[in-house]
Amino acid sequence: MSADTVPVTLTGWGRTAPSAARLIRPRTYEEAVAAVRGCGVRGGIPRGLGRAYGDAAQNAGGVVLDMTGLDRIHAIDADGGTVLCDAGVSLHRLMEVLLPLGWFVPVVPGTGHVTVGGAIGADVHGQNHHVAGSFSRHVLALELLTADGEIRAVGRGTPLFDATTGGMGLTGVILTATVRLLPVETSLMSVDTVRTTGLDDLLARLAATDHLYGYSAAWIDLRARGAATGRAVLTRGDHAPLDALPARARRAPLDVRTRRLSAAPFTEGLPGGPAAGLCNELRYRTAPRVRTGELRGISAFLRPLDGAPHWSRVPGRGGLVRYQCVVGDGQEETLHRIVRRIAERHHAALAFARGQAGRGFRVTLRFPALAEAR
Ligand SMILES: Cc1cc2nc3c(=O)[nH]c(=O)nc-3n(C[C@H](O)[C@H](O)[C@H](O)COP(=O)(O)OP(=O)(O)OC[C@H]3O[C@@H](n4cnc5c(N)ncnc54)[C@H](O)[C@@H]3O)c2cc1C
Repeated sequence: MSADTVPVTLTGWGRTAPSAARLIRPRTYEEAVAAVRGCGVRGGIPRGLGRAYGDAAQNAGGVVLDMTGLDRIHAIDADGGTVLCDAGVSLHRLMEVLLPLGWFVPVVPGTGHVTVGGAIGADVHGQNHHVAGSFSRHVLALELLTADGEIRAVGRGTPLFDATTGGMGLTGVILTATVRLLPVETSLMSVDTVRTTGLDDLLARLAATDHLYGYSAAWIDLRARGAATGRAVLTRGDHAPLDALPARARRAPLDVRTRRLSAAPFTEGLPGGPAAGLCNELRYRTAPRVRTGELRGISAFLRPLDGAPHWSRVPGRGGLVRYQCVVGDGQEETLHRIVRRIAERHHAALAFARGQAGRGFRVTLRFPALAEAR
């Protein structure tokens, strides 16, 4: 049996650069093999849930293999802490299945709606990058369907493994992966929040104390000017141990429902125009000056963007561009320049910063595409 082929126009999550392709959604490994063998001269590229901002999972005039039809969880080793699953399984689903067993996905990007294949292909990082590294560090083995139509078992430490992790789907189609999991006692996070007075204050805190936390991220107010330029809300935390929970929550510590024992973090958005300054002011002022040990649901903490599923449409028809840079220790002036320039030009942009464990700082910026082009 062959998988259906559908002509489609695809974009990435940022909705820039649409292109036409033939979309095939295999539901068995045999269908995936047949699709790869029949790709033709324009070849094929695997696609997960299409959360890459740009055109990574597009193939103008060629074949795109939608891998979400292959989404079985084959085996969970609840003693050893590993899972073997199809590459089309989403991290969101893995979390739902694993949390009640006391295990967690080792690295979660800003959204859970990415596939295991996409997480390996882009070697995604999460708020725990400074401690856990990126997703592929936790992948023990893969099965890879290569361009010749063969399925290969690929182990760690081999050149093909290294080329495939972070290889953006260019070495073949990942069919399955074995992933090492993180043990957790509860489905809550213990969170510390602090408002920083400016960018220097933020960078000093990231450098001095990020190693004390498993997870860390800061939202930067790109509208603040003068002495407040680069002021931020820094949120850091760890998986809450059982004894951190109030008695009533200890009865079901691994409840997977999104639980919130205190106020939610901000809702994401990308306001432009005059409203932006006001929104940022509110967001900054309503954050606690200092708060420690707040219990938050794991999803609300790790994936705030999933609380507003259509936020990427806020910038309008031009779409959204994500720009990420890492500057080394001692290069902080570069970050100052970036933040100052955006603040001066009143760009609608969102910025998040994370420390990189002695290797500097990573800043992620999201712009409406048209503002980026100016
Ligand atoms: C709201 C939001 C927040 C995000 N936050 C972060 C973040 O914090 N950190 C981060 O690193 N990224 C982040 N991202 C980016 C996202 O994690 C990656 O783009 C991820 O690769 C998307 O996975 P996907 O399943 O949607 O893959 P797609 O977007 O469909 O594909 C991405 C790449 O993976 C390849 N690929 C997909 N499936 C397979 C497969 N089975 N075999 C081989 N290659 C495959 C594709 O060919 C493509 O090159 C975020 C994205 C969004 C929308």
